[in-house]
Amino acid sequence: MNAPESPRIAVQLPDGLNYVNGQWIDDPDAERIEVRDPATEAIIGAIPCSTAATVDRAVAAATRAFHDPAWASLAPLAREALLHRLATLIEEHASELAAIESLDNGKPLAFSSTLDVPVCVQWLRYFAGWPSKLSGRQLAPAMLPAGSTHAYTLREPVGVVGAIVPWNFPLVLAVWKLAPALAAGCTVVIKPAEQTPYSLLKLAQLIEAAGFPKGVVNVVLGDGRTGQHIVDHPGIAKISFTGSTAVGKRIAACVANDLKRVTLELGGKSPTVILPDADLETAIPGAAQAVFVNSGQICFAGTRLFAPRKTFDRVLDGIASVGATFKIGAGLEPDTMLGPVVSQRQLDSVMGRVEAGIKAGAAVHSGGKRVAREGYFVEPTILVTDDRQNPAYREEVFGPVLTATPYDDLDELAALANDTEYGLGAHVYTRDLSKAHQLARKIQAGTVWVNTQLAPDPHLPFGGFKQSGWGRENGEDVFAHYLETKSVVVNIG
Ligand code: NAD
Repeated sequence: MNAPESPRIAVQLPDGLNYVNGQWIDDPDAERIEVRDPATEAIIGAIPCSTAATVDRAVAAATRAFHDPAWASLAPLAREALLHRLATLIEEHASELAAIESLDNGKPLAFSSTLDVPVCVQWLRYFAGWPSKLSGRQLAPAMLPAGSTHAYTLREPVGVVGAIVPWNFPLVLAVWKLAPALAAGCTVVIKPAEQTPYSLLKLAQLIEAAGFPKGVVNVVLGDGRTGQHIVDHPGIAKISFTGSTAVGKRIAACVANDLKRVTLELGGKSPTVILPDADLETAIPGAAQAVFVNSGQICFAGTRLFAPRKTFDRVLDGIASVGATFKIGAGLEPDTMLGPVVSQRQLDSVMGRVEAGIKAGAAVHSGGKRVAREGYFVEPTILVTDDRQNPAYREEVFGPVLTATPYDDLDELAALANDTEYGLGAHVYTRDLSKAHQLARKIQAGTVWVNTQLAPDPHLPFGGFKQSGWGRENGEDVFAHYLETKSVVVNIG
């Protein structure tokens, strides 16, 4: 296989150390996990698979910090200022963060610098606005004589949050958890995915520089075994997990032991539905972006396409030709638009699902193969099937792979869109406003985008119906998961 030819940007990675109570510490008893560049398969570093002892230290530090007046009694505006300061530091280190993310995850610099890093800044600035607005309210008890009591609610931070993030948007998804948790006054023990630890370690340096008190944010490195220690730790009040549905189900079962609070952002198999009246100039590039951006490693990627039989071939040819314009290369090559998938394991998983789909009868419209070069690259792929049991149609592939199905009857669209155990997102293309709103109501998904795609917003709740998860991230709704409500009733009669 040939080595990539374009020039690559040099990147300085942080040391692979845990960040606990404001100190950078190793775990001498831990196994080492190698971290690879997915574009070259070369080892770029190693991290500890931290043991229960390190998780224990991190939880102890987070618990102390949670009760320490330096954090617990901070005025809301001072907490807001810390979040703004962190956002400013991210802006100042934007190119470094983007380069780390592109090396570690493989995603194109064109995206990490214009999407991942700016999104972190936007989310932090949005959540920086909340601490001064989070308060309880005065209520009149329904069963007591008027004026006999003074009753009100307090909204208190839930405690130490255990945050576990995946590798597809390492920095963004860490910030989606850190920003609301910190705005609510919680403290955090956070674990990046073992494949992509470095951007969160760089973020920890910036968190320290921003002036957050020691122990408010602790980063613990490791794989699922370390994650399991976090899930099982009795000092953790709430788990905020983003990852696969299989691990999410396991976590749900584990937290039943002590009824920890839990939110789960899990897998997806989101539909892109093109109606006969859709503007194909918008729908075709939109559908292509929805499945090929980030090499399809987006939980709400539009991976099942439904297009009218009459325009089916035109739509598929259009999506394939947009895919063909995505220049394949290492994330750090400046002109790359389609990076590798994150690991050998992910490559095997994606190719295994593509091959299973073809074996079960799906026709290959385009792509379908690993790219013949070093690194974990997969061709932008379109498989055609109307077999709703085909594994490529049913299972989350998490690579640049679309299954396409023609339809004849508009009335079957909602049922087709909902024909999945998941319910994270949906993309609908139509010029008919009534149909857009009707379908948006009928589709079982946490977010429905109409005539646009892949556009989360910090003010809009995000999460899954069905097996795509529990709870919502973002917007005001997220605070239901980071705050406990306490009613106080005072007899003044
Ligand atoms: P994964 O579930 O294997 O791993 C995710 C994280 O969980 C990693 O940090 C991993 O180390 C940790 N982990 C693994 N086993 C654990 C355990 N037993 N206890 C605690 N932590 C454990 O998922 P993945 O394959 O790395 O990520 C891809 C999946 O994530 C896809 O299914 C994708 O749809 C999903 N995802 C969902 C969202 C969302 O917002 N809904 C966003 C991104 C990714």
